[in-house]
Amino acid sequence: MKCSLCDRRAVYFQRHSNRHLCRRHFIEDFERRVKLAVRKFDMIEKNDRIAIALSGGKDSVTLAYVLHKLYGKRRDLDFVAITVDEGIEGYRPPTVEIARRVTKELGMDHVVVSFKDHFGMTLDEMVQRGDKKPCTYCGVFRKHLLNKTARELGATKLATGHNLDDVTQTILLNFLNADIERLARLVPQRVQRGLIMRVKPLREVYEKEVVVYGLLHNLPLTFDECPYSYFPVRATVRDFLYEFENKYPGRKYSVLRSFEKLIPCLKEMYPQIELQSCERCGEPTPRGICQACKLLEELKASREAASNEV
Ligand code: SF4
Repeated sequence: MKCSLCDRRAVYFQRHSNRHLCRRHFIEDFERRVKLAVRKFDMIEKNDRIAIALSGGKDSVTLAYVLHKLYGKRRDLDFVAITVDEGIEGYRPPTVEIARRVTKELGMDHVVVSFKDHFGMTLDEMVQRGDKKPCTYCGVFRKHLLNKTARELGATKLATGHNLDDVTQTILLNFLNADIERLARLVPQRVQRGLIMRVKPLREVYEKEVVVYGLLHNLPLTFDECPYSYFPVRATVRDFLYEFENKYPGRKYSVLRSFEKLIPCLKEMYPQIELQSCERCGEPTPRGICQACKLLEELKASREAASNEV
């Protein structure tokens, strides 16, 4: 099959635009949409130091590569990758290695931080001790550590690898749960003291395009799933969106655009609250003690209870 834009062989059929694209035109189109997302929400501004949340998974590896390719030559910008090692045996070590390899090849500064060093235990240990779901611990502590590390490294933005599929699933999930307050948290935030602004440069590209872009650039992509990954409701929404998109191409963009049209109302309904500093660790929190300190306290208490029993 030929490319719809030139005589070269097509490598990808883009359903939402009904075009076959060759390697060159696919890459151009992908990068154009990344730049569009970046411009639309001022994700990258003059003199920014961008921290990239690099787990070593396919999305974050592609994100690091494409940001380096598109903006790496700008002298006023600076990039640093942060890998959080949660301590998930068998799953995380290979992706940490991938993150090391990728940053070395890109010549990008790279910092690895671990749950064990910062919280005194790995995620595997937390799961054994606590009564919460693995993703609860993982999500709260990872967010905390990423923000703290990014701030200590002097970052002005924190870029994550969320793609169009991730973003539209979250939008729809919040609608289905009637959780409009949580939906409002997806609205790009204003700068707050201590909180590094999070940006999602891949929000305009489909997950499968992220994979194709990565493969076309010979990036080391891994498709392993976290052993704790269990999201039945999200999986149902993902499958629904996939089928709907398959039948009616471009509908994920419709979901995203509808959400964007709601941004002014969401901002008015849920104005961003003034964050305070956690009484224990000083990290930003809506009030009192932050979620990470509360969880850590619970985990320590259950550890002490267990050692008293022995
Ligand atoms: Fe963490 Fe859950 Fe993701 Fe695994 S699936 S990396 S435990 S958030």
